[in-house]
Amino acid sequence: MRIALFGGTFDPIHNGHLTVADEAMRGFALDRVWFIPAWQPPHKTSATAASYEDRYRMVELACQGRPEFVASRLDEGEAPSYSIRTIEKARAALGPADELYFLIGADAFAEIRTWRRWQDVVAAVEFIVVSRPGHRYDVPPGARVHRLETLALPVSSSEVRAKLASGEEPADWLPAPVLAYIRERGLYGTRRAA
Ligand code: ATP
Ligand code: MG
Repeated sequence: MRIALFGGTFDPIHNGHLTVADEAMRGFALDRVWFIPAWQPPHKTSATAASYEDRYRMVELACQGRPEFVASRLDEGEAPSYSIRTIEKARAALGPADELYFLIGADAFAEIRTWRRWQDVVAAVEFIVVSRPGHRYDVPPGARVHRLETLALPVSSSEVRAKLASGEEPADWLPAPVLAYIRERGLYGTRRAA
């Protein structure tokens, strides 16, 4: 099988993430995309807004009815969550015939040289790097990169959180079950706004 690992804070998962995964599946004939919420992202300065369990649950809800989209707990307990660990764990869980890709947005890929053991990361996987408005990147030596340049999605979790906190309903940006879960749990300041 061809599997892409798609890690992120997913705080919360939004339609941009799903479109990225769809486009990568079509462009690279992937069989599966594993959505892997970070237990504790090493590159975020502050803590996540929602807990691991809430972020994981929202990923599950977003993947419902899409058997090729898999919610993964691979990062559970990894503090901080380094991609090299995720990749090693994925490899251990897969067979020798499985092909592993790493799906990532241009903003995150631009920082790859700051990652723990980044040379091991680029040796271990091929990247699918997705364009994102306002973000450019260069390819470090040895990295195998497939550029997916067809998307320019102006959506981010930060903006979704800001909208929710100010009482807006970003219904176009979130899968309906995710928005319902956020409201039900009062996440991202929605309880105050209600
Ligand atoms: P935040 O604003 O909190 O950083 P985010 O929208 O960037 O949230 P992340 O969980 O940080 O979401 O991102 C997970 C992965 O998805 C990263 O590789 C990121 O680059 C990618 N990604 C997220 N949104 C987009 C987008 N609109 N276009 C392309 N890639 C995206
Ligand atoms: Mg981000």
